Amino acid sequence: MTDPAKAGCIFCRIVAGELSCKKLYEDENILAFRDVHPLAPVHGIVIPKRHVPTLDDFASGDDALLGRIMLVASRIAKEHGLAGYRVVMNIGSLGGQTVFHAHLHILGGRQMSPLG
Ligand code: AMP
Repeated sequence: MTDPAKAGCIFCRIVAGELSCKKLYEDENILAFRDVHPLAPVHGIVIPKRHVPTLDDFASGDDALLGRIMLVASRIAKEHGLAGYRVVMNIGSLGGQTVFHAHLHILGGRQMSPLG
């Protein structure tokens, strides 16, 4: 039976292979791909394959998974020769999150402006 939490989740559909993506990295638990509407020359999205709606929904046992997600961002930055870059995670509607499958943005290839 389809998990109602996952139903219609764009990123779950990418994980399932139902929607295509430009893959940047994949292992058993993590997938990274290019953002379809890039905000920088390099704009990747790193996600857990498991459906977790927001950062606040990870379990205490997910420490290693969250650490891996950060390390995958660093790996992608190195592969693209980025000397500096930004990682961002939007949490909840108020935090600017539009896709409710937790994900880390990696942005690079241009000068980042100060956060404000
Ligand atoms: P957020 O606003 O943090 O939830 O970011 C969601 C991001 O997912 C946006 O930057 C979108 O451009 C991106 N996005 C939405 N659909 C797709 C897709 N099918 N493939 C790649 N990126 C996507």
